[in-house]
Amino acid sequence: MQRFPCTRFVPVCKQIINLLEKFIESPYVLCVFLEFCGAIILDKPNGESYYFVQGEHTMDILSQPHFHNEKAAFAKLESIVWPDGPVCPHCSNRERIYDLQKTRIGLRKCGKCRKQFTVRVGTVFESSHVPLRKWFQAAFLMCSSKKGISSNQLHRTLGVTLKTAWFMAHRLREAMKPDSDIPFGGEGMNVEVDETYLGAPKRQYKSRFVNERGWVQTKGPLLDKAKIVTLVERGGRARSFTVDSVNTKALNDIMFGNIDRKSTLQTDEGTWYKDGGREFAKHETVKHSTEEYVRGDAHTNSIEGYFSIFKRGMKGIYQHCKERHLPRYLSEFDFRYSEREALGVGDVERLEKALYGIRGKRLTYQTTYRPA
Ligand SMILES: [Zn+2]
Repeated sequence: MQRFPCTRFVPVCKQIINLLEKFIESPYVLCVFLEFCGAIILDKPNGESYYFVQGEHTMDILSQPHFHNEKAAFAKLESIVWPDGPVCPHCSNRERIYDLQKTRIGLRKCGKCRKQFTVRVGTVFESSHVPLRKWFQAAFLMCSSKKGISSNQLHRTLGVTLKTAWFMAHRLREAMKPDSDIPFGGEGMNVEVDETYLGAPKRQYKSRFVNERGWVQTKGPLLDKAKIVTLVERGGRARSFTVDSVNTKALNDIMFGNIDRKSTLQTDEGTWYKDGGREFAKHETVKHSTEEYVRGDAHTNSIEGYFSIFKRGMKGIYQHCKERHLPRYLSEFDFRYSEREALGVGDVERLEKALYGIRGKRLTYQTTYRPA
């Protein structure tokens, strides 16, 4: 009869209540008993409705120790990155790893190559001076905010400088990049492909020194909008790419490299899909120009939903984005879309998946400025 919609329930608490329910049949009496024990009843039971309790046994996400305590943060990250026990990042050895945590939190030593390491070595967190607990806070905020979180907000919330916050966000985006390039779709599956344009065309200005007039701004070329091509597996993942121009060749390269040929391709009437579309099991198109948006199974509504969230995030949260950084922002939106609530991935699970992605990736301040 009772359901516990509060996902933040710790398992022990659930077990205790399940046990109590065996002895106390009436939910009213159970509530009184729980209140007596110090729990706070937020919603009293009413016939078939549910109630949940918040007390000493329940813990909200941000109260978990790894968000505050450095030792707990290391232990948590180790459990995510090393699910089968510590691995030496220098020689991949798993045996004879010595615990040097008394010297420094998280420090280990490999018995084979005799080198010291922590769980941060060989990941995007390597050589970062930011405490690990702040990394957990930043990663949680990024993973749980549907449209992203600005560097300014991170800077104020975490108490780090704006430059650090910006760099942390970029490192976390790097961690969100997919590890596998398993093709999308398969037999009987629908993959939607669409393109979008971000930003307004901008005029580039150049400064030129003119005698007696000083520095004068002159009009440069008109810069194009950023062009993005996205693939969405209906009811599944998303993967986005930036392209120099939207044409058949660019689209074919993306589609052939990322979509299983046995899938059904769903696109709009764009001419650049026609050539590649023949290679797939089926190619269905809807004609947006004649206001046709859905015809049976043929539609691109999933991908329009993805673009809607992406654009709201880019305009409302990030506002400015240099084109060279765009692929990393796309990875962030792809990751959150691919690991969304509708697919059964909660905020905590999404955070753990993002942190699992830190392995084997590095991003330094210098390399951040190179095109991703
Ligand atoms: Zn080693």
